[in-house]
Amino acid sequence: MKSFDLIVIGGGSGGLAAAQRAAEYGARVVVFEAARLGGTCVNVGCVPKKVMWYAAEISSALNAAADYGFSIQRFGHDFKALKTRRDAYVARLNGIYAKNLERRGVMHVASWAQFVEPHVVADAGGQRYTAPHVLIATGGQPLVPAIPGAEQGITSDGFFELESLPDRVAVIGSGYIAVELAGVLNALGSKVSLLIRRESVLRSFEPLLSQHLATEMQNDGIKLITGAVPERVERNDKISLHTADGRQFDDFDQLIWAIGRAPLVDGFGLKDAGVALNESGYIQVDEYQNTTVDGIYAVGDVTGLAELTPVAIAAGRRLSDRLFNAQSDRKLSYANIPTVIFSHPPIGTVGLSEPEAIATYGEDQVRTYVSEFVPMFNALSEKKPKTAMKLVTAGTEEKVVGCHLIGLGADEILQGFAVAVVMGARKRDLDDTIAIHPTSAEELVTMR
Ligand code: FAD
Ligand code: NDP
Repeated sequence: MKSFDLIVIGGGSGGLAAAQRAAEYGARVVVFEAARLGGTCVNVGCVPKKVMWYAAEISSALNAAADYGFSIQRFGHDFKALKTRRDAYVARLNGIYAKNLERRGVMHVASWAQFVEPHVVADAGGQRYTAPHVLIATGGQPLVPAIPGAEQGITSDGFFELESLPDRVAVIGSGYIAVELAGVLNALGSKVSLLIRRESVLRSFEPLLSQHLATEMQNDGIKLITGAVPERVERNDKISLHTADGRQFDDFDQLIWAIGRAPLVDGFGLKDAGVALNESGYIQVDEYQNTTVDGIYAVGDVTGLAELTPVAIAAGRRLSDRLFNAQSDRKLSYANIPTVIFSHPPIGTVGLSEPEAIATYGEDQVRTYVSEFVPMFNALSEKKPKTAMKLVTAGTEEKVVGCHLIGLGADEILQGFAVAVVMGARKRDLDDTIAIHPTSAEELVTMR
Protein backbone atom coordinates (compact mmCIF):
# COMPACT_ATOMS: atom_id res chain seq x y z
CA MET A 1 0.00 0.00 0.00
CA LYS A 2 1.34 3.46 -0.97
CA SER A 3 0.40 6.35 1.34
CA PHE A 4 -0.35 9.93 0.30
CA ASP A 5 -2.02 13.03 1.75
CA LEU A 6 -4.34 13.42 -1.24
CA ILE A 7 -5.55 11.03 -3.93
CA VAL A 8 -7.06 12.74 -6.98
CA ILE A 9 -9.17 10.70 -9.39
CA GLY A 10 -9.21 12.47 -12.76
CA GLY A 11 -6.46 14.58 -14.35
CA GLY A 12 -8.73 17.20 -15.93
CA SER A 13 -9.27 20.87 -15.08
CA GLY A 14 -10.52 20.35 -11.51
CA GLY A 15 -8.29 17.43 -10.51
CA LEU A 16 -5.03 18.94 -11.76
CA ALA A 17 -5.78 22.32 -10.19
CA ALA A 18 -6.47 20.77 -6.79
CA ALA A 19 -3.45 18.44 -7.01
CA GLN A 20 -1.00 21.19 -7.90
CA ARG A 21 -2.29 23.62 -5.28
CA ALA A 22 -2.10 20.89 -2.61
CA ALA A 23 1.46 19.99 -3.65
CA GLU A 24 2.47 23.67 -3.44
CA TYR A 25 1.46 23.49 0.24
CA GLY A 26 3.68 20.45 0.71
CA ALA A 27 1.07 17.71 0.47
CA ARG A 28 2.05 14.33 -1.01
CA VAL A 29 -0.32 13.90 -3.95
CA VAL A 30 -1.11 11.19 -6.50
CA VAL A 31 -3.28 11.83 -9.58
CA PHE A 32 -4.98 9.02 -11.48
CA GLU A 33 -5.66 9.84 -15.11
CA ALA A 34 -6.62 7.02 -17.43
CA ALA A 35 -6.62 9.08 -20.62
CA ARG A 36 -4.65 12.18 -21.65
CA LEU A 37 -3.69 14.73 -19.01
CA GLY A 38 -5.78 17.89 -19.16
CA GLY A 39 -9.15 16.15 -19.40
CA THR A 40 -12.05 17.31 -21.50
CA CYS A 41 -11.07 20.97 -21.79
CA VAL A 42 -7.60 20.42 -23.17
CA ASN A 43 -8.25 17.35 -25.31
CA VAL A 44 -11.85 17.46 -26.56
CA GLY A 45 -13.26 20.73 -25.24
CA CYS A 46 -12.34 24.38 -24.80
CA VAL A 47 -8.86 24.25 -26.35
CA PRO A 48 -9.41 22.44 -29.69
CA LYS A 49 -12.84 24.13 -29.89
CA LYS A 50 -11.30 27.59 -29.58
CA VAL A 51 -8.74 26.73 -32.28
CA MET A 52 -11.63 25.80 -34.57
CA TRP A 53 -13.45 29.00 -33.60
CA TYR A 54 -10.40 31.05 -34.57
CA ALA A 55 -10.32 29.24 -37.92
CA ALA A 56 -13.97 30.13 -38.41
CA GLU A 57 -13.29 33.76 -37.45
CA ILE A 58 -10.52 33.93 -40.06
CA SER A 59 -12.92 32.58 -42.65
CA SER A 60 -15.45 35.30 -41.75
CA ALA A 61 -12.73 37.97 -41.84
CA LEU A 62 -11.72 36.82 -45.33
CA ASN A 63 -15.32 37.31 -46.42
CA ALA A 64 -15.21 40.85 -45.05
CA ALA A 65 -11.82 41.69 -46.59
CA ALA A 66 -13.29 42.96 -49.87
CA ASP A 67 -15.35 45.52 -47.92
CA TYR A 68 -12.05 47.04 -46.89
CA GLY A 69 -10.62 47.15 -50.40
CA PHE A 70 -8.68 43.89 -50.49
CA SER A 71 -9.00 41.86 -53.66
CA ILE A 72 -8.40 38.32 -52.49
CA GLN A 73 -9.29 35.02 -53.99
CA ARG A 74 -9.94 32.05 -51.76
CA PHE A 75 -8.31 28.81 -52.84
CA GLY A 76 -10.04 26.58 -50.32
CA HIS A 77 -9.08 25.41 -46.89
CA ASP A 78 -6.84 22.53 -45.79
CA PHE A 79 -8.87 21.02 -42.98
CA LYS A 80 -6.36 18.22 -42.47
CA ALA A 81 -3.51 20.71 -42.02
CA LEU A 82 -5.56 22.60 -39.43
CA LYS A 83 -6.30 19.38 -37.54
CA THR A 84 -2.64 18.32 -37.61
CA ARG A 85 -1.52 21.66 -36.18
CA ARG A 86 -4.34 21.65 -33.62
CA ASP A 87 -3.50 18.11 -32.49
CA ALA A 88 0.18 19.03 -32.17
CA TYR A 89 -0.76 22.02 -29.99
CA VAL A 90 -2.89 19.80 -27.74
CA ALA A 91 -0.06 17.24 -27.52
CA ARG A 92 2.30 20.05 -26.46
CA LEU A 93 -0.18 21.00 -23.72
CA ASN A 94 -0.37 17.35 -22.57
CA GLY A 95 3.42 17.43 -22.17
CA ILE A 96 3.32 20.73 -20.27
CA TYR A 97 0.74 19.30 -17.86
CA ALA A 98 2.93 16.25 -17.23
CA LYS A 99 5.96 18.52 -16.57
CA ASN A 100 3.92 20.72 -14.23
CA LEU A 101 3.03 17.68 -12.13
CA GLU A 102 6.60 16.47 -12.13
CA ARG A 103 7.90 19.90 -11.11
CA ARG A 104 5.63 19.93 -8.09
CA GLY A 105 6.43 16.35 -7.14
CA VAL A 106 2.91 15.08 -7.88
CA MET A 107 2.84 11.39 -8.83
CA HIS A 108 0.86 10.60 -12.01
CA VAL A 109 -0.63 7.11 -12.32
CA ALA A 110 -1.70 6.54 -15.92
CA SER A 111 -4.50 4.19 -15.04
CA TRP A 112 -8.19 4.02 -14.28
CA ALA A 113 -8.73 4.32 -10.50
CA GLN A 114 -11.02 1.96 -8.65
CA PHE A 115 -12.29 2.42 -5.10
CA VAL A 116 -11.47 -0.58 -2.88
CA GLU A 117 -12.55 1.11 0.33
CA PRO A 118 -13.56 4.74 0.96
CA HIS A 119 -9.91 5.77 1.45
CA VAL A 120 -8.20 3.08 -0.58
CA VAL A 121 -7.95 3.22 -4.37
CA ALA A 122 -6.38 0.64 -6.71
CA ASP A 123 -4.84 1.07 -10.16
CA ALA A 124 -5.40 -1.35 -13.04
CA GLY A 125 -2.45 -3.50 -11.90
CA GLY A 126 -3.94 -3.92 -8.42
CA GLN A 127 -1.46 -1.61 -6.65
CA ARG A 128 -3.23 0.09 -3.73
CA TYR A 129 -2.98 3.71 -2.63
CA THR A 130 -4.39 5.28 0.52
CA ALA A 131 -4.90 8.86 1.74
CA PRO A 132 -7.02 10.67 4.32
CA HIS A 133 -8.31 12.91 1.53
CA VAL A 134 -9.70 11.65 -1.79
CA LEU A 135 -10.92 14.00 -4.54
CA ILE A 136 -13.23 12.78 -7.29
CA ALA A 137 -12.88 14.91 -10.44
CA THR A 138 -13.92 12.42 -13.09
CA GLY A 139 -15.84 14.88 -15.30
CA GLY A 140 -18.43 13.74 -17.79
CA GLN A 141 -19.08 12.40 -21.25
CA PRO A 142 -21.35 13.38 -24.16
CA LEU A 143 -24.90 12.02 -24.16
CA VAL A 144 -26.24 10.01 -27.07
CA PRO A 145 -30.01 9.45 -27.11
CA ALA A 146 -31.41 5.93 -26.68
CA ILE A 147 -33.09 5.80 -30.09
CA PRO A 148 -32.61 3.41 -33.03
CA GLY A 149 -29.60 4.30 -35.18
CA ALA A 150 -28.19 6.88 -32.74
CA GLU A 151 -24.76 5.26 -33.18
CA GLN A 152 -24.71 6.58 -36.77
CA GLY A 153 -24.05 10.01 -35.30
CA ILE A 154 -20.94 11.35 -33.62
CA THR A 155 -20.58 13.61 -30.57
CA SER A 156 -18.26 16.54 -29.87
CA ASP A 157 -15.54 13.92 -29.21
CA GLY A 158 -16.02 12.62 -32.78
CA PHE A 159 -16.07 16.16 -34.15
CA PHE A 160 -12.47 16.57 -32.99
CA GLU A 161 -11.52 13.38 -34.83
CA LEU A 162 -12.86 14.53 -38.20
CA GLU A 163 -10.13 14.46 -40.84
CA SER A 164 -12.10 16.42 -43.41
CA LEU A 165 -14.88 18.97 -43.47
CA PRO A 166 -18.23 17.22 -43.91
CA ASP A 167 -20.34 18.67 -46.69
CA ARG A 168 -23.84 18.42 -45.16
CA VAL A 169 -24.16 18.23 -41.39
CA ALA A 170 -27.06 17.86 -38.97
CA VAL A 171 -26.28 19.21 -35.52
CA ILE A 172 -28.81 18.08 -32.92
CA GLY A 173 -29.22 20.14 -29.77
CA SER A 174 -29.60 23.74 -28.69
CA GLY A 175 -27.01 24.37 -25.98
CA TYR A 176 -23.42 25.58 -25.90
CA ILE A 177 -21.92 22.79 -27.99
CA ALA A 178 -24.67 22.72 -30.62
CA VAL A 179 -24.43 26.43 -31.43
CA GLU A 180 -20.63 26.51 -31.23
CA LEU A 181 -20.08 23.54 -33.56
CA ALA A 182 -22.84 24.62 -35.95
CA GLY A 183 -21.20 28.07 -36.21
CA VAL A 184 -17.72 26.68 -36.82
CA LEU A 185 -18.83 24.17 -39.46
CA ASN A 186 -20.95 26.78 -41.23
CA ALA A 187 -18.14 29.33 -41.33
CA LEU A 188 -15.71 26.72 -42.69
CA GLY A 189 -18.11 25.84 -45.52
CA SER A 190 -20.37 22.95 -44.43
CA LYS A 191 -24.09 23.17 -45.10
CA VAL A 192 -25.45 23.03 -41.58
CA SER A 193 -28.92 22.16 -40.29
CA LEU A 194 -29.39 22.80 -36.59
CA LEU A 195 -32.25 20.69 -35.30
CA ILE A 196 -33.68 21.80 -31.98
CA ARG A 197 -36.50 20.08 -30.17
CA ARG A 198 -38.21 23.24 -28.92
CA GLU A 199 -38.57 26.76 -30.32
CA SER A 200 -35.15 28.33 -29.91
CA VAL A 201 -31.51 27.88 -29.03
CA LEU A 202 -30.00 28.58 -25.58
CA ARG A 203 -33.42 28.60 -23.89
CA SER A 204 -32.05 28.95 -20.38
CA PHE A 205 -30.17 32.17 -21.23
CA GLU A 206 -31.33 35.80 -21.38
CA PRO A 207 -34.03 35.82 -24.12
CA LEU A 208 -32.33 38.68 -25.98
CA LEU A 209 -29.28 36.43 -26.52
CA SER A 210 -31.31 33.44 -27.58
CA GLN A 211 -33.41 35.40 -30.11
CA HIS A 212 -30.51 37.39 -31.45
CA LEU A 213 -28.31 34.33 -31.97
CA ALA A 214 -31.09 32.44 -33.76
CA THR A 215 -31.51 35.37 -36.16
CA GLU A 216 -27.78 35.77 -36.82
CA MET A 217 -27.29 32.03 -37.36
CA GLN A 218 -30.06 32.03 -39.95
CA ASN A 219 -28.65 35.15 -41.62
CA ASP A 220 -25.34 33.29 -41.83
CA GLY A 221 -27.01 30.43 -43.72
CA ILE A 222 -27.59 27.88 -40.96
CA LYS A 223 -30.92 26.08 -41.40
CA LEU A 224 -32.69 26.22 -38.03
CA ILE A 225 -35.28 23.47 -37.70
CA THR A 226 -37.50 23.79 -34.62
CA GLY A 227 -39.77 21.27 -32.88
CA ALA A 228 -37.56 18.41 -34.06
CA VAL A 229 -37.55 15.62 -31.48
CA PRO A 230 -35.21 12.89 -32.77
CA GLU A 231 -36.87 9.46 -33.08
CA ARG A 232 -34.73 7.38 -35.42
CA VAL A 233 -31.55 7.64 -37.48
CA GLU A 234 -30.84 5.67 -40.65
CA ARG A 235 -27.76 5.42 -42.79
CA ASN A 236 -27.79 4.27 -46.37
CA ASP A 237 -25.43 6.21 -48.54
CA LYS A 238 -26.17 9.26 -46.41
CA ILE A 239 -27.69 9.83 -42.97
CA SER A 240 -31.41 10.49 -42.43
CA LEU A 241 -33.06 11.70 -39.24
CA HIS A 242 -36.70 10.97 -38.48
CA THR A 243 -38.45 13.14 -35.91
CA ALA A 244 -41.37 12.36 -33.60
CA ASP A 245 -43.79 14.49 -35.63
CA GLY A 246 -43.24 12.31 -38.71
CA ARG A 247 -40.78 14.57 -40.54
CA GLN A 248 -37.69 13.18 -42.24
CA PHE A 249 -34.45 15.06 -42.88
CA ASP A 250 -32.11 13.47 -45.45
CA ASP A 251 -28.75 13.58 -47.15
CA PHE A 252 -26.44 14.32 -44.24
CA ASP A 253 -22.78 13.30 -44.35
CA GLN A 254 -22.46 13.69 -40.58
CA LEU A 255 -24.88 13.92 -37.69
CA ILE A 256 -23.58 15.41 -34.44
CA TRP A 257 -25.32 14.85 -31.11
CA ALA A 258 -24.94 17.90 -28.86
CA ILE A 259 -27.71 17.25 -26.38
CA GLY A 260 -25.83 17.56 -23.09
CA ARG A 261 -23.34 15.60 -21.04
CA ALA A 262 -23.62 12.98 -18.31
CA PRO A 263 -21.33 12.72 -15.25
CA LEU A 264 -18.77 9.90 -15.11
CA VAL A 265 -19.92 8.12 -11.96
CA ASP A 266 -20.03 4.46 -12.98
CA GLY A 267 -17.47 1.70 -13.11
CA PHE A 268 -15.02 2.77 -10.42
CA GLY A 269 -16.71 1.66 -7.21
CA LEU A 270 -18.26 4.96 -6.19
CA LYS A 271 -21.32 3.31 -4.72
CA ASP A 272 -19.22 0.78 -2.77
CA ALA A 273 -17.34 3.73 -1.27
CA GLY A 274 -20.70 5.07 -0.08
CA VAL A 275 -20.64 8.28 -2.12
CA ALA A 276 -24.22 9.41 -2.79
CA LEU A 277 -25.54 10.88 -6.02
CA ASN A 278 -28.24 13.56 -6.19
CA GLU A 279 -31.52 13.02 -8.04
CA SER A 280 -29.99 14.23 -11.30
CA GLY A 281 -27.25 11.58 -11.07
CA TYR A 282 -24.36 13.94 -10.18
CA ILE A 283 -22.21 13.50 -7.06
CA GLN A 284 -23.92 15.23 -4.18
CA VAL A 285 -21.70 17.87 -2.55
CA ASP A 286 -22.20 20.56 0.04
CA GLU A 287 -20.89 24.13 -0.35
CA TYR A 288 -17.39 22.96 0.67
CA GLN A 289 -17.32 20.23 -2.02
CA ASN A 290 -17.70 17.51 0.66
CA THR A 291 -19.49 14.39 -0.55
CA THR A 292 -21.60 12.27 1.78
CA VAL A 293 -18.45 10.38 2.89
CA ASP A 294 -15.98 11.99 5.30
CA GLY A 295 -12.70 12.90 3.59
CA ILE A 296 -14.07 12.33 0.07
CA TYR A 297 -14.71 15.41 -2.06
CA ALA A 298 -15.87 16.13 -5.60
CA VAL A 299 -15.32 19.10 -7.94
CA GLY A 300 -16.05 19.94 -11.57
CA ASP A 301 -18.49 18.49 -14.08
CA VAL A 302 -19.12 15.38 -11.99
CA THR A 303 -20.97 17.64 -9.52
CA GLY A 304 -23.10 19.25 -12.27
CA LEU A 305 -22.55 22.77 -10.90
CA ALA A 306 -21.79 25.16 -13.78
CA GLU A 307 -19.86 22.81 -16.07
CA LEU A 308 -17.04 25.16 -16.99
CA THR A 309 -13.28 24.80 -16.75
CA PRO A 310 -12.60 27.88 -14.58
CA VAL A 311 -15.31 26.69 -12.18
CA ALA A 312 -13.71 23.24 -11.82
CA ILE A 313 -10.29 24.89 -11.35
CA ALA A 314 -11.55 27.40 -8.76
CA ALA A 315 -13.40 24.71 -6.79
CA GLY A 316 -10.31 22.45 -6.83
CA ARG A 317 -7.91 25.18 -5.74
CA ARG A 318 -10.18 26.41 -2.96
CA LEU A 319 -10.59 22.86 -1.70
CA SER A 320 -6.82 22.47 -1.44
CA ASP A 321 -6.54 25.90 0.24
CA ARG A 322 -8.99 24.60 2.84
CA LEU A 323 -7.49 21.15 3.33
CA PHE A 324 -3.80 21.94 3.15
CA ASN A 325 -3.42 25.62 4.02
CA ALA A 326 -5.73 25.99 7.01
CA GLN A 327 -8.14 28.34 5.18
CA SER A 328 -11.04 26.66 6.91
CA ASP A 329 -13.78 28.78 5.37
CA ARG A 330 -12.45 28.75 1.82
CA LYS A 331 -15.07 27.73 -0.72
CA LEU A 332 -16.37 28.67 -4.15
CA SER A 333 -19.42 30.89 -4.63
CA TYR A 334 -21.38 29.63 -7.62
CA ALA A 335 -23.20 32.98 -8.06
CA ASN A 336 -22.36 35.39 -10.88
CA ILE A 337 -20.23 33.02 -12.92
CA PRO A 338 -19.37 34.73 -16.21
CA THR A 339 -19.48 32.56 -19.30
CA VAL A 340 -18.82 32.95 -23.00
CA ILE A 341 -20.44 30.97 -25.77
CA PHE A 342 -18.15 30.87 -28.78
CA SER A 343 -20.98 31.12 -31.26
CA HIS A 344 -20.98 33.36 -34.35
CA PRO A 345 -21.26 36.05 -33.15
CA PRO A 346 -20.00 35.25 -29.66
CA ILE A 347 -22.00 35.69 -26.49
CA GLY A 348 -20.81 36.88 -23.08
CA THR A 349 -23.15 36.68 -20.12
CA VAL A 350 -23.03 37.05 -16.36
CA GLY A 351 -25.69 37.22 -13.67
CA LEU A 352 -29.45 37.12 -13.94
CA SER A 353 -31.52 37.20 -17.11
CA GLU A 354 -34.45 39.61 -17.11
CA PRO A 355 -37.00 36.83 -16.30
CA GLU A 356 -34.74 35.56 -13.48
CA ALA A 357 -34.34 39.07 -12.05
CA ILE A 358 -38.12 39.61 -12.11
CA ALA A 359 -38.65 36.27 -10.35
CA THR A 360 -36.03 37.23 -7.74
CA TYR A 361 -36.79 40.92 -7.10
CA GLY A 362 -40.32 41.46 -8.46
CA GLU A 363 -41.23 43.22 -11.69
CA ASP A 364 -41.43 46.74 -10.21
CA GLN A 365 -37.85 46.44 -8.89
CA VAL A 366 -36.24 45.50 -12.19
CA ARG A 367 -35.13 47.98 -14.86
CA THR A 368 -33.32 46.99 -18.01
CA TYR A 369 -31.21 48.89 -20.51
CA VAL A 370 -30.89 47.57 -24.04
CA SER A 371 -28.73 48.59 -26.94
CA GLU A 372 -28.72 47.14 -30.46
CA PHE A 373 -26.42 48.46 -33.13
CA VAL A 374 -24.28 47.55 -36.11
CA PRO A 375 -20.68 47.37 -34.86
CA MET A 376 -18.28 49.65 -36.69
CA PHE A 377 -16.42 46.68 -38.17
CA ASN A 378 -19.49 46.07 -40.34
CA ALA A 379 -20.10 49.72 -41.21
CA LEU A 380 -18.59 49.28 -44.67
CA SER A 381 -20.06 45.86 -45.39
CA GLU A 382 -23.19 44.70 -47.19
CA LYS A 383 -23.87 42.20 -44.44
CA LYS A 384 -24.60 43.95 -41.18
CA PRO A 385 -24.71 41.50 -38.27
CA LYS A 386 -25.89 43.37 -35.20
CA THR A 387 -24.56 43.54 -31.68
CA ALA A 388 -27.04 43.48 -28.79
CA MET A 389 -26.46 44.27 -25.12
CA LYS A 390 -28.66 44.23 -22.07
CA LEU A 391 -28.03 45.41 -18.54
CA VAL A 392 -30.45 44.10 -15.93
CA THR A 393 -30.64 46.22 -12.77
CA ALA A 394 -32.52 45.74 -9.52
CA GLY A 395 -33.74 48.00 -6.72
CA THR A 396 -33.77 51.79 -6.35
CA GLU A 397 -29.96 51.78 -6.40
CA GLU A 398 -30.12 50.02 -9.77
CA LYS A 399 -27.55 47.41 -8.87
CA VAL A 400 -26.38 45.62 -12.02
CA VAL A 401 -27.49 42.02 -11.53
CA GLY A 402 -27.10 40.89 -15.14
CA CYS A 403 -24.93 41.83 -18.12
CA HIS A 404 -25.60 40.14 -21.45
CA LEU A 405 -23.77 40.70 -24.71
CA ILE A 406 -23.89 39.20 -28.18
CA GLY A 407 -21.74 40.48 -30.99
CA LEU A 408 -18.22 40.97 -32.23
CA GLY A 409 -15.84 41.13 -29.25
CA ALA A 410 -18.41 40.08 -26.64
CA ASP A 411 -16.12 37.19 -25.65
CA GLU A 412 -13.33 39.59 -24.63
CA ILE A 413 -15.52 42.42 -23.32
CA LEU A 414 -17.31 40.44 -20.63
CA GLN A 415 -14.52 39.62 -18.16
CA GLY A 416 -14.03 43.19 -16.89
CA PHE A 417 -17.75 43.83 -16.58
CA ALA A 418 -18.07 40.55 -14.66
CA VAL A 419 -15.67 42.03 -12.07
CA ALA A 420 -17.97 45.04 -11.75
CA VAL A 421 -21.05 42.81 -11.32
CA VAL A 422 -19.30 40.64 -8.70
CA MET A 423 -18.28 43.83 -6.84
CA GLY A 424 -21.92 45.00 -6.79
CA ALA A 425 -21.64 47.87 -9.29
CA ARG A 426 -24.66 50.12 -9.78
CA LYS A 427 -25.81 51.50 -13.07
CA ARG A 428 -24.46 54.91 -12.08
CA ASP A 429 -21.00 53.43 -11.50
CA LEU A 430 -21.03 52.37 -15.14
CA ASP A 431 -22.33 55.82 -16.14
CA ASP A 432 -19.49 57.43 -14.18
CA THR A 433 -16.91 55.48 -16.16
CA ILE A 434 -15.52 57.28 -19.19
CA ALA A 435 -16.22 55.45 -22.43
CA ILE A 436 -13.47 54.10 -24.65
CA HIS A 437 -14.14 55.23 -28.18
CA PRO A 438 -14.73 53.88 -30.76
CA THR A 439 -15.52 50.43 -29.38
CA SER A 440 -18.57 48.23 -28.89
CA ALA A 441 -17.86 48.00 -25.16
CA GLU A 442 -18.48 51.73 -24.69
CA GLU A 443 -22.22 51.09 -25.16
CA LEU A 444 -22.23 49.46 -21.72
CA VAL A 445 -21.26 52.72 -20.02
CA THR A 446 -23.44 55.01 -22.14
CA MET A 447 -26.83 53.28 -22.03
CA ARG A 448 -29.85 55.39 -21.11
P1 FAD B 1 -12.65 16.69 -17.06
O1 FAD B 1 -11.86 17.79 -17.64
O2 FAD B 1 -13.62 16.00 -17.94
O3 FAD B 1 -11.60 15.64 -16.47
C1 FAD B 1 -11.98 14.41 -15.94
C2 FAD B 1 -10.89 13.42 -16.19
O4 FAD B 1 -11.09 12.29 -15.35
C3 FAD B 1 -10.87 12.86 -17.60
O5 FAD B 1 -9.62 13.16 -18.21
C4 FAD B 1 -11.08 11.34 -17.45
O6 FAD B 1 -10.30 10.58 -18.33
C5 FAD B 1 -10.64 11.13 -16.02
N1 FAD B 1 -11.26 9.99 -15.34
C6 FAD B 1 -12.58 9.71 -15.24
N2 FAD B 1 -12.79 8.64 -14.47
C7 FAD B 1 -11.55 8.20 -14.07
C8 FAD B 1 -11.10 7.12 -13.25
N3 FAD B 1 -11.95 6.29 -12.66
N4 FAD B 1 -9.77 6.98 -13.08
C9 FAD B 1 -8.88 7.83 -13.66
N5 FAD B 1 -9.27 8.88 -14.43
C10 FAD B 1 -10.59 9.06 -14.63
N6 FAD B 1 -15.58 25.11 -20.55
C11 FAD B 1 -15.18 26.41 -20.57
O7 FAD B 1 -15.01 26.99 -19.48
N7 FAD B 1 -14.95 27.07 -21.74
C12 FAD B 1 -15.11 26.48 -22.94
O8 FAD B 1 -14.90 27.11 -23.97
C13 FAD B 1 -15.54 25.13 -22.97
N8 FAD B 1 -15.70 24.49 -24.15
C14 FAD B 1 -16.09 23.17 -24.14
C15 FAD B 1 -16.25 22.54 -25.38
C16 FAD B 1 -16.65 21.22 -25.42
C17 FAD B 1 -16.82 20.55 -26.76
C18 FAD B 1 -16.86 20.51 -24.22
C19 FAD B 1 -17.26 19.06 -24.25
C20 FAD B 1 -16.70 21.12 -22.99
C21 FAD B 1 -16.32 22.47 -22.95
N9 FAD B 1 -16.16 23.14 -21.74
C22 FAD B 1 -15.76 24.46 -21.73
C23 FAD B 1 -16.41 22.48 -20.45
C24 FAD B 1 -15.09 22.01 -19.80
O9 FAD B 1 -14.37 21.23 -20.69
C25 FAD B 1 -15.41 21.21 -18.53
O10 FAD B 1 -16.26 21.96 -17.69
C26 FAD B 1 -14.15 20.85 -17.77
O11 FAD B 1 -13.26 20.10 -18.56
C27 FAD B 1 -14.50 20.06 -16.51
O12 FAD B 1 -13.36 19.67 -15.82
P2 FAD B 1 -13.36 18.41 -14.84
O13 FAD B 1 -12.06 18.42 -14.16
O14 FAD B 1 -14.59 18.41 -14.03
O15 FAD B 1 -13.48 17.15 -15.80
P1 NDP C 1 -26.20 21.92 -22.76
O1 NDP C 1 -26.75 21.45 -21.50
O2 NDP C 1 -25.61 23.28 -22.86
O3 NDP C 1 -27.34 21.87 -23.89
C1 NDP C 1 -27.94 20.70 -24.31
C2 NDP C 1 -29.33 21.07 -24.83
O4 NDP C 1 -29.76 20.09 -25.77
C3 NDP C 1 -30.36 21.02 -23.71
O5 NDP C 1 -30.38 22.23 -23.02
C4 NDP C 1 -31.65 20.73 -24.46
O6 NDP C 1 -32.23 21.99 -24.87
C5 NDP C 1 -31.18 19.94 -25.69
N1 NDP C 1 -31.52 18.53 -25.56
C6 NDP C 1 -31.40 17.76 -24.45
N2 NDP C 1 -31.80 16.50 -24.71
C7 NDP C 1 -32.18 16.48 -26.01
C8 NDP C 1 -32.67 15.46 -26.85
N3 NDP C 1 -32.87 14.22 -26.41
N4 NDP C 1 -32.94 15.77 -28.13
C9 NDP C 1 -32.75 17.04 -28.60
N5 NDP C 1 -32.28 18.04 -27.85
C10 NDP C 1 -31.99 17.77 -26.56
O7 NDP C 1 -25.19 20.80 -23.21
P2 NDP C 1 -23.97 20.78 -24.22
O8 NDP C 1 -23.80 19.37 -24.59
O9 NDP C 1 -24.13 21.80 -25.28
O10 NDP C 1 -22.75 21.23 -23.29
C11 NDP C 1 -22.51 20.63 -22.03
C12 NDP C 1 -21.91 21.63 -21.08
O11 NDP C 1 -20.54 21.85 -21.40
C13 NDP C 1 -22.54 23.01 -21.15
O12 NDP C 1 -23.71 23.10 -20.39
C14 NDP C 1 -21.44 23.90 -20.63
O13 NDP C 1 -21.50 23.94 -19.23
C15 NDP C 1 -20.18 23.18 -21.10
N6 NDP C 1 -19.67 23.85 -22.30
C16 NDP C 1 -19.17 25.13 -22.16
C17 NDP C 1 -18.73 25.82 -23.25
C18 NDP C 1 -18.22 27.22 -23.08
O14 NDP C 1 -17.90 27.62 -21.97
N7 NDP C 1 -18.10 28.01 -24.15
C19 NDP C 1 -18.73 25.23 -24.59
C20 NDP C 1 -19.25 23.88 -24.61
C21 NDP C 1 -19.69 23.24 -23.49
P3 NDP C 1 -33.83 22.16 -24.98
O15 NDP C 1 -34.38 21.74 -23.68
O16 NDP C 1 -33.99 23.62 -25.29
O17 NDP C 1 -34.25 21.28 -26.09
